[in-house]
This record gives sequence, structure tokens and C-alpha cells, in this order.
Amino acid sequence: MVATCDRILSRSRPRRSGLQDAKWWQPVTVFLVGAGPGDPDLITVKGKQLLEDCDVVIYDRLAPSELLAFTKVGCELIDVGKRPAISENDQDYINNLLIERARMGLKVVRLKGGDPYVLGRGGEEAQALVNAGIDFQIVPGVTSAIAVPAYAGIPVTHRNIADSVTIVTGHQDSKVNWKALAELGTTIVVLMGVTNRKEISRKLIENGMDPATSVAIVEWGTTPEQSTHRTNLEELERARVRPPATIVIGQVAEMNLKWFESRPLLGKRVVVTRASETAGKLSRLVREFGARVIEIPTIRTLELEVPPVSGEYEWTVFTSPIAVELYVKHFRITSKIAAVGPATRNRLNEAGYQVELVPDEFDANSLVESFPIAQNSGQVLYPKSQIAKDTIESGLVSKGWQVTSIDLYTTERVPLSDWQIKEISNCDIIAFASSSAVEALADVLGDTLRSVSGKVVCIGYETARVAESLGARSIVIAKEHSIEGLAKAVLDA
Ligand code: SAH
Repeated sequence: MVATCDRILSRSRPRRSGLQDAKWWQPVTVFLVGAGPGDPDLITVKGKQLLEDCDVVIYDRLAPSELLAFTKVGCELIDVGKRPAISENDQDYINNLLIERARMGLKVVRLKGGDPYVLGRGGEEAQALVNAGIDFQIVPGVTSAIAVPAYAGIPVTHRNIADSVTIVTGHQDSKVNWKALAELGTTIVVLMGVTNRKEISRKLIENGMDPATSVAIVEWGTTPEQSTHRTNLEELERARVRPPATIVIGQVAEMNLKWFESRPLLGKRVVVTRASETAGKLSRLVREFGARVIEIPTIRTLELEVPPVSGEYEWTVFTSPIAVELYVKHFRITSKIAAVGPATRNRLNEAGYQVELVPDEFDANSLVESFPIAQNSGQVLYPKSQIAKDTIESGLVSKGWQVTSIDLYTTERVPLSDWQIKEISNCDIIAFASSSAVEALADVLGDTLRSVSGKVVCIGYETARVAESLGARSIVIAKEHSIEGLAKAVLDA
């Protein structure tokens, strides 16, 4: 409930820095949030909502950086996980930071890799908050101990093969009873075990485990960089591994119910620039192909005050789903309806309207081409973005129509952070769903797209023309000018 109220308040607030956003009416609260093992889609709904609402995020090395894109403008982002091992001093520093920011009245998310309470020192942080008398909540996460093997095709338990699983730390300071584990003979999942792997295999073998026992080592699990080595206990020390890695020991490690590693864009980095309100669909489609998707919301939709609409119209024309959404909020449509493409048409159908006309190619020019010639100076209503080109208006006027346009919304630039600029220059593919997104990105990158070395995939000809004029090289145009078509073009690029 609190989260919902805050969200409405935070949307209507002017943009300010996280520190100035202190709210005296909000209880002092820290949320220890599990970020999941790497795939950003594996965060919980509650975790994502908190990221959208909070004033400060204090995050770890292993928390997926894509999740930071959910934070609001002005949210303070503090990276506390540069080093692989967190020393006692570092832990005290983090505990104090949580307490200090919470006492400033800020809503703090402590974002931790996997689950906060599985070998993640979340318990110590919660203990420090208890001692300081600060309210906190735990938002569990998907732990790498189970999800990483699953993405490598390994169920940690399996009928007739393994009835239980033990999750242990492989850190050299740990007090794991390796003898008991060797005797138990169940699945062993070792986290933080890369450095100490020689010692681990030695102890298990010395205590009676078969040296031929299967082992799988999964690096960067659930991310586009995932790779899996299969070996056995005796050979474990010789495996070349880059941390972070999860080590699975036991008969289940032979299993390979492959799905994630066979996807076509695994390992590719794709930048998606869209208005933040609509970014989800393309990202989801491209992520399904296995790519690492970096969402860069360069433009944001701002609703304008809607003027009264009167008069009789023969047609109402829509060129974006957002225009539909905003228009039907205020008015009923009584005329025939034209939509530029399937997404706009679907939004109209969802609102209960049938669409008379959708052009074969989903852009403004084709809409004008396929529009009928006016009889008796017919009237067209065109609810639109304030910054839309005048293709529709001038095109329809030349076909004899009288066009009344109403500006429902506009878009504005969202500034890029340093990490976003780095992601853009390192990407393999960048996908543009509108010419205004191209212009916005060029603008924030310093007026040109020349620094983009990856392929530039555009939804349609107009978007491509603008990208080319702004210095983009290696341009690919989607065959079908829709989000699905754009995703397909990314796959084929
Ligand atoms: N709380 C976390 C674990 C923290 S310990 C969780 O529930 O997942 C950190 C260890 O988790 C790493 O050393 C590694 O063994 C494992 N790990 C975390 N992310 C991983 C990933 N993407 N791929 C493989 N192992 C990972």
C-alpha cells in the first residue's frame, strides 16, 4: 500500500536529486532486495516496484546493472561492490551507509545478487539495522544456487538421481563439513568456490567420494555470457574458470536439458532506445533470443492538457498506441478509425473499437497513400504527439480532407549516465523504434551517432534516413515496420 501511494507522489514531484527528496511522512525503511542471479527478468515484482520508487540504491557487483534503469530520475546510485571479496571494513561501511541514508528519511533499496539471505551477508546487514532501530523489509530473490544450474540444463534434484541438495560456500574460511557431505552423496552446489576448487575436490575425494563424480561449472549463469564446463571431481582443479561461477557436484551434473545456451543471440549486447513507458515489449522479445538487452530510455512521454473536441468527423486517425490511450481516456470515438499499424490497432481493439483501415506498410506515408479521397470536404480528426511530423496532415489535405489535429502529448529527452554511454559504445546492435529516439540519442551522445560501432537496426525508412543523416553506419531496416518486425530484424542483423 505504501509503495502505491509513494509512486503516485513520486510521479507528480518535480525532478530533484535523491538527497533533496527526503520525505518526512514516510517511515524510515531499508529494503534488502534480492536482485536474482544475473538475468534482470528474474527480479520479483515487489523488488522492481521498490527500485522504481526508492531514493537510493546501494548495489553489489553481482546485482544485474540493467535493473538500475528502473530507478527514477534523481535516484542516488551507490556501487559498493567493486572488489570480489568484501572485507569486514567494507561490510561496516555498507552497514553504516544503510543506516545513514535511512536516517536522512530516504527510501533505501539494498540490492543484492541472488537472494539476500543465501550466502550474501544479508543477515549481517539486517542485524545492523535491528541494532540501529531502523525498520527494514526483506524481499527474497531467486538464488544462483538453484537458478544458475537450471539455466545450464541441470535440475538440482531429480527423481532416482538426487533427493536433496546442499548449498555450501567454497570460501577458504568456511567451516563446511566436507566429510559429512561426501558421505551424504546428494547434489552439492558450491558458491564462491572457484579459488578454492582444488582444496574442495581433494577433501571430497579423501572422504570417500568417487573421483569420477560429475561436476558442472557454470560461469556468469543466467546472463548472455553464460558458459558451462563439464568435468569430474578429479579434474575440477584443472578447469579454467572466470568467477562468478556456480559449481554443481553430483550425478545431476551429467544432465543437459539445454534451452538457454541454444538461443540464437546468446552473448550479443543489444541497446534498445524507446520512450520509457513502452520499452518493455521489444526488450522482452530480444531478450528471449538470448541477447543482453540494455534499455536506454532517451525520450519520455509527457501528457498535455487536452482541449475540448467538438464537431462531426468522418475519420479519426491514430499513429501511436499512446495517442489512443490518452484519447480514449477523455473521449468516445464515433467516426471510422484508421491506425498506422498493428500495435495502434491492438490498443484500439482493447478499448473496444473496430479499426477500418490499417496500411500494408506501417508508417505515416503508407497510411496517407491507402487513405480514401475525400468526398464533399470530409472532416478528419487527428489526435497526436505535439512533435509529430506533418506527413499525415499535409497528405490528407492533399487528398481533399479537412484535418483537425489535437496535441495530446509531447516527448522530452532523458539525460544519459556514464554507464549508459559505455554500454552504447560497446554494443553489437542498437535498435531504434522511432526517428525521435534516433535524434534523442544523437543529441545526448553529442549530436552524432558516429561513435556507435554496432549495427543500427531501424523500424522503418524514416527512422533509417534520420539515423544515416546523423552519422550512423551499418544500417539495417526492418522488413515489417512494427515492434515484432524490429525484433526480427535484430535477430537477422
Ligand atoms: N546471495 C547470492 C550468492 C552470493 S555469494 C545468491 O543467492 O545467489 C556469490 C556467489 O554466488 C558467487 O561467487 C558465485 O558462486 C555465485 N553466483 C552469483 N551469481 C552468479 C552467476 N551469475 N553465475 C554463476 N554463479 C553466480
